[in-house]
Amino acid sequence: VNTGSKPDISRVKSAELYEKSKTYFPGGVNSPVRAFKSVYGTPLFIEKGDGCYIWDADGNQFIDFCGSWGPLILGHNNTKIREKVTEVMQNGMSFGAPTALENELAELIIKNNRFVEKIRFTSSGTEAVMSAIRLARGFTGRDKILKFEGCYHGHTDALLVKAGSGLVTFGETSSAGVPKSFAEETIVIPLNDKVAIEQAFAQFKDQIAAVIIEGIPANNGLIIQDEDYIHFLRKICTENNSLLIFDEVITGFRVGFEGAAAHYGVKPDIVTYGKIIGGGLPVGMYGASAEIMSNISPDGGVYQAGTLSGNPVAMAAGIATLTELNKSGFYKDLNNKTQDFVASIQRFATARNYKFKVFTVGSIFWFAFTDKDKIQSADDIDAGSMEKFKIMHRELLNRGIYLGPSGYEVGFVSAAHTKVELEKAKRAIFEALDL
Ligand code: PLP
Repeated sequence: VNTGSKPDISRVKSAELYEKSKTYFPGGVNSPVRAFKSVYGTPLFIEKGDGCYIWDADGNQFIDFCGSWGPLILGHNNTKIREKVTEVMQNGMSFGAPTALENELAELIIKNNRFVEKIRFTSSGTEAVMSAIRLARGFTGRDKILKFEGCYHGHTDALLVKAGSGLVTFGETSSAGVPKSFAEETIVIPLNDKVAIEQAFAQFKDQIAAVIIEGIPANNGLIIQDEDYIHFLRKICTENNSLLIFDEVITGFRVGFEGAAAHYGVKPDIVTYGKIIGGGLPVGMYGASAEIMSNISPDGGVYQAGTLSGNPVAMAAGIATLTELNKSGFYKDLNNKTQDFVASIQRFATARNYKFKVFTVGSIFWFAFTDKDKIQSADDIDAGSMEKFKIMHRELLNRGIYLGPSGYEVGFVSAAHTKVELEKAKRAIFEALDL
C-alpha cells in the first residue's frame, strides 16, 4: 500500500544546536559523516539512548540501526556496562599506569581468540591500524603497504589513499594534507581481483610489508568477498613473506567472537579491533603472535604509546561487553534474528520486482538499490542509486527509524532489538520501498 510521504519530523531544537555547533566545529561536527551531507535535512542532535531506541533534542524517538557505527552490539545504555563502568569510576578515571582491568580484558580476548597471542590497547581504531602498519613495516623491514579500493581503515595518512589510474599503480591521496610521498608507499587495487594482486607482488617484489583488508569490507557498502579470494590472499602473502593484516574494527566481535578471521577460516598475521571491544567507550587494539608482537616497544624497536591507552573506565566497558558476547548462544540468537529481519525485507522487495538488495552477514546489513546479486568491488556500486537511499533515509526518519546518514554505510542490529521493534522497522521499510 502506498501511504505516501510522511510529514517531516520536527527538528527545531536540533536545527538550533546545529547553528551553534557550526560556529565551533568545521561543518558543525566532530566527524564528517555526522553532518548529513549525503541525506536530506540537517543533523539530529541525540539526547539519549536506551536499548535499541534513541531520542533527539526535539523528543523524536527512533529505532536505531546505526548503534554508534557498530560498537553498541548490546544496545544503548546497557545495564551491565553502565554498572561496571560506574563501579570502576569510583576509584578514579585514569592513572597512566597499569591496572588489573587491562589484564582482565586482555584475558577475555586472548583466551577466546585463536588469532592473537599478545595485544596492545589503543584509544581508537585509527590508532590500532596505524600501529599495525608500523609493526608490519618494522617486522619485515619493508615500506610498501597494499590496500583495497573501497576499504576504510581510519584516517591515518598512509591509508587515506585511493586507487590511481591503471591496474596496478601507486595510489593518489584522497585527502588534502597527505604528502604525495606517503601515498607512494601505498598500493591500491580493486577487491576481488586476483590478477591485480599478482601483478602488484610481481611489480613490487620484496617491497610489500603487508596487505591490509577489512575482515569483511563494510565501509563502502557491504562488499562481501568469496572465501576462496580471502584464502588466496593468505597464500600470496605467505609466498611473498608479506604480512596479512585483517582490519576487524567493524567485524571483530560482530560477526562472531573471533570475527571475520574465524568466519573465513583464515589466520591473519596481525589483527586490529575497535568499536565493540570498548562497549561504546574509546578503545582500539591490535594483536598478533607473540613473536611479531615482540617487536613492539619496550620489547622491540617499533615505538607505539598512548596516554589513555588501556584506560580503566574504557576497559570496564569492554569487559562488561565481551563477558556478554562470550556467553553461549549470543551470536546465534543475534545473527538469526537479523537474518530473519533482512530475509523478509528481501522477500518483500523481490515480490514487487524492486531494484533493491539487502546484503548481509551476521548482524550487519546494507541496503543497496541494485539488481546485482553480488557486489564485490567498489566499482560494482552505482553512485546514482544513492539518490534513492536519500529518499529512503528521510522516509525512515519520518517513520521513527534511524539509519546512518549515508547510503554507503551499513546498518547494525543489536541484542536489544526485539521482535516487536524489528516488526515495526520492517513495516516502515516496506512503506518506504513502496514510495
Ligand atoms: N577500520 C575500520 C574497518 C573502520 O570501520 C574504522 C572506523 O569506522 C576504523 C578503522 C577507524 O576507527 P576509529 O573511527 O575508531 O578511529
